[in-house]
Amino acid sequence: MKKKIVVIGGSFGGLTAALEVKRLAGDSVEVTLLSADRDFVFLPSLPWVIMGSRRPADITLGVAGILRPRGISFVHESVTEVLPGELKVRTAAGEYPYDYLVIATGPHLACDEIPGLGPKKGFTHCTFTMEYAIKSREAWLRLLEEPGPVVIGSTQLASCFGPYYELAFEMDWELRKRRMRHKVPITYLTSEPYLGHMGIGGLGKSRRFLEDEFAELDIKVAANQAIEEITPGEIRLAGGGLPFKLAMLAPPFKGVRGVAGLGNPRGFIPADQHFRHPEHANIYTVGVAMALAPLEPTPVPTGVPKTGFMTVRMAKAAAANIAADLRNLPPSATRELSVTCMMDMGRTAALMVANPLLPPRQKSYVKKALWAKWAKIQFETYFLWKMRHGYSRLP
Ligand SMILES: Cc1cc2nc3c(=O)[nH]c(=O)nc-3n(C[C@H](O)[C@H](O)[C@H](O)COP(=O)(O)OP(=O)(O)OC[C@H]3O[C@@H](n4cnc5c(N)ncnc54)[C@H](O)[C@@H]3O)c2cc1C
Repeated sequence: MKKKIVVIGGSFGGLTAALEVKRLAGDSVEVTLLSADRDFVFLPSLPWVIMGSRRPADITLGVAGILRPRGISFVHESVTEVLPGELKVRTAAGEYPYDYLVIATGPHLACDEIPGLGPKKGFTHCTFTMEYAIKSREAWLRLLEEPGPVVIGSTQLASCFGPYYELAFEMDWELRKRRMRHKVPITYLTSEPYLGHMGIGGLGKSRRFLEDEFAELDIKVAANQAIEEITPGEIRLAGGGLPFKLAMLAPPFKGVRGVAGLGNPRGFIPADQHFRHPEHANIYTVGVAMALAPLEPTPVPTGVPKTGFMTVRMAKAAAANIAADLRNLPPSATRELSVTCMMDMGRTAALMVANPLLPPRQKSYVKKALWAKWAKIQFETYFLWKMRHGYSRLP
């Protein structure tokens, strides 16, 4: 009988895991992917949607169209419960039994943890979904009509910093091109203990690099800050208030509710070096959903980022380990996490490398280079092509 593999999440982690396990195990498995979203969105390009250089359709692919040609079933439903004792997951519409489960549910954006935060019930914007990016774009266009102070950055317990650095640079550049920069004070506000920490203790000269770049561009910095409350037009911090006309803040991250019970107190799911749950060896977790302990506690709590690049590698490793288990072989793919990131800086860009993810490291550097901007654009085209055709084998 075919083994049932259920994957939750239709993004970098879930799609890669589903495609790769099907590629490796072929007809011996029946793969079903459940996702709350009908589409895959190339999230790294959302800052470009906000700035207007991409349309939503440019970076969006239908999940069903990717999976069906590969013989993988797609169910557009949210998982409301995982029942490891009964080897099944539950949605509002039904139940799906599994022999192996892969959880790739990303983050839950916990805007409710800070009064006044977020685009739904609060006064700030963020970039984490297409819906929020479109709202951010509208807010950015309003700002161009009526300029005023901009605050960009990350709240306590956020664990994705890169896009907000990118947006600070991109907004600065766009405003200068329009000869409006003098009308828009920009402040980078962050829970990171210092600029360039990024939740991983910095990488290479990231601290000095970002301090120098922001100083040259007159971007003010408020680091090591916890936000108490946000009211219309003001962010309240322990030491006073920061006024804003437009605020774009990464919210605190939590794990997803539908998989509660398997995770730590913030809902992130623990995994061993083979991406298996410590108590349920047939449950694998990859990407942002996976618990990853910080290098050291920071004065204001921050989380460790899990990039798309890392997520894809985790998903391939998890798929390889499931394929090995199906053949009664021990798992071989292990947890070696590293970062390679191209940061758009508006007029230029930077390449950031940290290998391994947390120090001490073999390689760790930041290099400013215009070619990194072109490489980022090329990578977007390549990744969307690779995903559209379901080529999970490619790097
Ligand atoms: C603005 C932005 C810029 C970024 N830039 C870069 C970059 O330059 N380079 C880089 O490497 N990384 C970048 N990243 C990070 C990268 O996008 C993430 O690492 C990646 O999206 C993580 O993938 P994931 O599959 O773990 O989770 P996600 O992409 O968050 O996807 C989670 C999936 O799970 C589904 N889901 C959630 N809960 C349920 C449920 N209960 N039932 C069913 N489905 C569910 C969701 O619908 C979604 O499909 C960026 C992220 C953002 C937001």
